[in-house]
Amino acid sequence: MTMRQQLADSHRLVVKVGSALVTNNGAGLDEQAIAEWARQIAQLHAEGKQIALVSSGAIAAGMQRLGWQTRPRVMHELQAAAAVGQMSLAQTYESCFSRHGLKTAQVLLTHEDLADRKRYLNARSTLITLLELGVVPIINENDTVVTDEIKFGDNDTLGALVANLLEAEALIILTDQPGLFSADPRYNPSATLISEGRADDTAYEAMAGGAGSSIARGGMITKVRAAQRAARSGADTLIANGREPDALLRLARGEKLGTLLFATESPLAARQQWLADHLQLAGSLLLDEGAVRALRDGKSLLPIGVVSVDGEFERGAAVACLSAGGGEIARGLINYSSSEARRIARHGTQEIEAILGYLDEEALIHRNNMVLL
Ligand code: GLU
Repeated sequence: MTMRQQLADSHRLVVKVGSALVTNNGAGLDEQAIAEWARQIAQLHAEGKQIALVSSGAIAAGMQRLGWQTRPRVMHELQAAAAVGQMSLAQTYESCFSRHGLKTAQVLLTHEDLADRKRYLNARSTLITLLELGVVPIINENDTVVTDEIKFGDNDTLGALVANLLEAEALIILTDQPGLFSADPRYNPSATLISEGRADDTAYEAMAGGAGSSIARGGMITKVRAAQRAARSGADTLIANGREPDALLRLARGEKLGTLLFATESPLAARQQWLADHLQLAGSLLLDEGAVRALRDGKSLLPIGVVSVDGEFERGAAVACLSAGGGEIARGLINYSSSEARRIARHGTQEIEAILGYLDEEALIHRNNMVLL
């Protein structure tokens, strides 16, 4: 099976559309184009795929609503335009998806949200819940409070971070170019389209050249870097022209369209590696024999199996799971703080809400956030 065909079997995808596409080169929101992607996403959804959409275009839409002809230079004016435009963006997506019986959710994130463990876990649980409810999350940067993507990326990095967060099998970046070329096709007529390559091949950065148009911030370079980042969690990246008829459907079926920059590890292997390498342990949990067996069988850790909690930590901290003999059998990101964990230890999941006053997650550590040693 080719790499492209493997995409046809993927279950969870992140689709990113840039400003130039969403706004038809700055002339307000291109509702027809948005309706087209919504139709394709609805079809993939009906085929059983979970899809999160990362969309730029708030600034461009806001500029139009405010009657501004040229993109302002002052950052807070751009942020104000984004706040105005986000309303149009959300309304347009909601109405386009509702024609196919699908609900949308607005999610505004910052890079810091995803670097902070606690917020990372919260964002992850919310987004996964939305996907499981069959809702299409429409994600943008929270431009009111940060300016990362306004300055550099036009949401390319955010797309990769969301792919990391959701352990998506693929990140599809739709743009106004056919894909990545061996040189800048505007200046070099012999430039050829790269059809396939490893995301971690550094040669692509040089090929990607400079930044993009005046509407969109990100050129090819931010897309190549996004592909490198997505690959760290095992996601392949596809860069293709979003104006190509049925682009999403064709890509999702494995058709040779645009550029595929593939990851060399599967999402699961990449996540386990990340957990094993990057975790500074903040505490430990002593497990009973039943819990040790459950973990070794690939199950999540429930509070009932925890005998005692050592250390002071927040939700999202990395903790070690110890067996009665004191050996570390696993480590992972915990869903409750140390004081909460102490209170719910030895209790059944159905008692968590009565003890704490709320139920965050049923598992103390979810098996996807855990690596067995
Ligand atoms: N988040 C911004 C938007 O939605 C980024 C794109 C840009 O810089 O134009 O408009």
